[in-house]
Amino acid sequence: MAAAVVVVFDFDKTIIDCDSDNWVIDELGGTQRFDQLLETLPWNTAMDTIMREFHAQGRTIEEIAETLKNAPLPAETVAAIKSAYSFGCDLRIVSDANRFFIETILKHHGLTGYFSEINTNPGYVDEEGRLRIFPYHDFSSSSHGCSLCPPNMCKSKIVERIQASTALAEGKKRIVYLGDGKGDYCPSLRLGAQDFVMPRKNFPLWELVAENPHALRAEIHEWNDAEEQERVLLRIVDGLVSAERRNAGHLVSEDCKLQSLPPLASPVLRVPN
Ligand SMILES: [Mg+2]
Ligand SMILES: [Zn+2]
Repeated sequence: MAAAVVVVFDFDKTIIDCDSDNWVIDELGGTQRFDQLLETLPWNTAMDTIMREFHAQGRTIEEIAETLKNAPLPAETVAAIKSAYSFGCDLRIVSDANRFFIETILKHHGLTGYFSEINTNPGYVDEEGRLRIFPYHDFSSSSHGCSLCPPNMCKSKIVERIQASTALAEGKKRIVYLGDGKGDYCPSLRLGAQDFVMPRKNFPLWELVAENPHALRAEIHEWNDAEEQERVLLRIVDGLVSAERRNAGHLVSEDCKLQSLPPLASPVLRVPN
């Protein structure tokens, strides 16, 4: 049976407990320079620029990779990812960081195989060993047309594609969306009544949601830290998977239902290839 639940994770401050861009820049001592660049450049362009400057100063890609390996990724988040995967969920990342940062961190923690898709800004090491970072949406040729989002990425466009590609014959798959930032608000508005949003408490997404909770159709479940993130996510996933199994006829007659509570769906042993 194909996964009926798609779990969409933002990356910065959702999977890792920091912002990967700021983490690398701070670790390499580029904080002031980056703030200067941001006065005139969009964030994504400023990232590519400061990476060029680091490269010109002789900072290596290995040095950057080392700092990424030290970025905090809580054990409870690792556990949540593995359990959701075991439950049969399809896990995806939608992030305004970049591919090099995300892949380096996931690989370091042995998490690469748990995700079916990473949607983010292109980031790769060129032939000179310089990290190049490009916009997910090439705004020099056209605008994505969303005024809520930064020019390089509207996460709604990605979520809409996921919704379209995962529609089941008997209805849409359910999406559980976890995020913290402003950029996670637009895709949250796209979710339907069968979906779930998990905003990180007291972060920008949560604040936007709290201003007008009725703007969202999805069920809202907040979380504070990785421990709560794991607990809330697994409760939602367990509920959805149990309901799915009941619908699939695993609980037979009404008589039966009176005598026994629905079984807790237990994760089957499932590990990535
Ligand atoms: Mg984030
Ligand atoms: Zn948008």
